[in-house]
Amino acid sequence: MKKTSRYLITAALPYANGLKHIGHLAGAYLPADIYVRFLRVQKKDVVFVCGSDEHGTAIPIQAAKEGTTPQAIIDKYHPILKENFEDLGISFDIYARTSDPIHHETTQEFFTYLNERGDFEVKETEQYYDEEAHTFLADRYIKGTCPNCGFQNAFGDQCERCGISLSPEMLINPVSTLSGKPPVKRLTKQWYLPLDKHEAWLREWILGEHKDDWRNNVLGQCKSWLDGGLQPRAITRDLDWGIKVPLPDAQGKVLYVWFDAPIGYISATKQWAIECNKDWKPYWYSDETKLVHFIGKDNIVFHCIIFPVMLKLHGNILPDNVPANEFMNLEGDKMSTSRNWKLEMQDYINDFIRKENGGSQMADVLRYYLTTIMPETKDSEFTWKGFQDANNNELVSIFGNFVNRTFVLMHKLCSGKVPPLHAALLDEVDNAIINDIEGTKLKVESLLEQYKFKEALFEVIDLARKGNKYMQEKEPWKKVPANKEEPISAENQRKIDNCLHICLQLTANLAIFINPFLPFTAKKMCKMMKVVEKMLEWKNGGRLKLLSVGYTLKAPELLFRKIDDAEIKEQVDKLEKAAQSSAAQEAIASKIQETSARVQDTSSVKGQGTNDNKQEAGSITAESSTANQITIDDFAKIELRTGIITAAERVEKADKLLKLQIDLGYETRTILSGIALYFKPEEVIGRQVTVVANLAPRKMRGIESNGMILMAEDNTGKLHFVSPDTLINAGSRVS
Ligand SMILES: [Zn+2]
Repeated sequence: MKKTSRYLITAALPYANGLKHIGHLAGAYLPADIYVRFLRVQKKDVVFVCGSDEHGTAIPIQAAKEGTTPQAIIDKYHPILKENFEDLGISFDIYARTSDPIHHETTQEFFTYLNERGDFEVKETEQYYDEEAHTFLADRYIKGTCPNCGFQNAFGDQCERCGISLSPEMLINPVSTLSGKPPVKRLTKQWYLPLDKHEAWLREWILGEHKDDWRNNVLGQCKSWLDGGLQPRAITRDLDWGIKVPLPDAQGKVLYVWFDAPIGYISATKQWAIECNKDWKPYWYSDETKLVHFIGKDNIVFHCIIFPVMLKLHGNILPDNVPANEFMNLEGDKMSTSRNWKLEMQDYINDFIRKENGGSQMADVLRYYLTTIMPETKDSEFTWKGFQDANNNELVSIFGNFVNRTFVLMHKLCSGKVPPLHAALLDEVDNAIINDIEGTKLKVESLLEQYKFKEALFEVIDLARKGNKYMQEKEPWKKVPANKEEPISAENQRKIDNCLHICLQLTANLAIFINPFLPFTAKKMCKMMKVVEKMLEWKNGGRLKLLSVGYTLKAPELLFRKIDDAEIKEQVDKLEKAAQSSAAQEAIASKIQETSARVQDTSSVKGQGTNDNKQEAGSITAESSTANQITIDDFAKIELRTGIITAAERVEKADKLLKLQIDLGYETRTILSGIALYFKPEEVIGRQVTVVANLAPRKMRGIESNGMILMAEDNTGKLHFVSPDTLINAGSRVS
């Protein structure tokens, strides 16, 4: 067993190109924070580093979108992200920036060291070049038709409609997004990290040494990468935005973002050490340091394969674990910024934290729910109903209720003071709950050490549940005579004392156990118990003598408030509305684009100045004002028919979708329709509907949908079926 003297905990550096959603929070930042807080209360030497990733092509692209400069983008988003994390209790020791000079220096030194050792390969390859903009094109700067789904606006690295990973070579009719022209191939020199040379030790290290302590999803992904054979990866790019390659023959080249970003963990540690007057080196060079990277599953290859190769070549330690999480979906669908199907940290903060006094309690509610659905082994799903249930049925009814009852009864039956414990009177029920307190400490500890956050939190809530049950069995309120004038007998008072003494010590323990997960709540509990936060040290957990006998405690305060249906409905409506308006915008944009494409075709047929950019652009603008008009021939292409819904059922994990069987007279079709939020399956069976019968089949949630049902939306957002005013035979043409 390796000795651990210090911990270095990292959480994935978020791109400073926009707001981050709660899927990111649950994926990396929250589990990292829980783990770090758990280490801190154990008095471990721990540093928690993170920061904004301010390079990469995403930043200049966002700048172009917002009509500004890359620098303005990072200057805008870095402070917002930093504050969002603070508001949600994510307690980084440092939240740095990769645009900081210390990071540029650290990265260039890192590159130079490896380059001088001969660890890189230099190769000339052909890459896409924009002759008009005089620049090589990053994958994201090339658009074209997706070879998988036919989407016309797929990026060179990914199709945003079907999600498939692409390389620019795979796009049909690629064009540069800078000039709108097809790019040409040009030779360029790049530096490569030859991962293939490191396959043997990586295999032994990951699949051998860590086969038992790394998560299966992580091992699985690594194995498939290793089995597929590792390839040299280019670590330089022909780009403006990024860290300059520190070589005289590398003009116009920067280090690729995945080379510089993980080094951000090192430079952030250095910056932290400067600010705290510490030595950063042991954290990255000593075998007694435990390095843990918290990330989402999309980052596994960078943190388990590429960065470890870099670290090993550079003489640094390797990560001890990379507990990557899967993804979190939202209300039946993948979270997506482009489709506006998301809940950003900022939205939650605005709606729940900023709005109320002591809103940090609401930060804990989010932390609680996200931990209970943390996607540790498989994708999970955030629903507003689930959020409400977790709060009302667990935090309010179990945890909050236990603490509140204990305080109320202590004030009523023990004059607001911690009552004594009469050891001679302890019975089996008392001893059982005392054992549970000790047992919970050991369980939570062991689960957190294995990065099983969801289960660990369950144990804490379960202890509160047991506390309620204990109080219910003891019924201290029944030990009071019916006639209020009569005094409580000495015997009964001792029973009351024992019950409330145990419940109060249990409350103190709950504060210790909940603290890594819900730090604001733990703090509030300390105030109610009038104890210093030092009590929250982990070593105090499992003990019964945390609150001194005779000590006066404060009046009870509610730890959590109920969340009502109206609040939940408001959030669901907001989500639906945002997604609808984004879908409408996308439809208009693609319509305009199709029309523009036609105009370009026409002008090239007519030979009207196809080489004159300005004229072409002008004609596009003129045409797009009538972009929403179609000809009668266009309309005739749509085959509309009446049909009858013969069966309907919900689609698993898709709250919005109903799977319908539609009788079209000549055949029965399966059609998926996004009406589940408005209609129950049993309500729509037998309905007459109008169907777009010749729509290309589309697969959603693994089910092929053949057609589309027409719905009308009124100004309140409610959907209505569109159908003939009387029942007619199924399959009738509509024109
Ligand atoms: Zn596609």
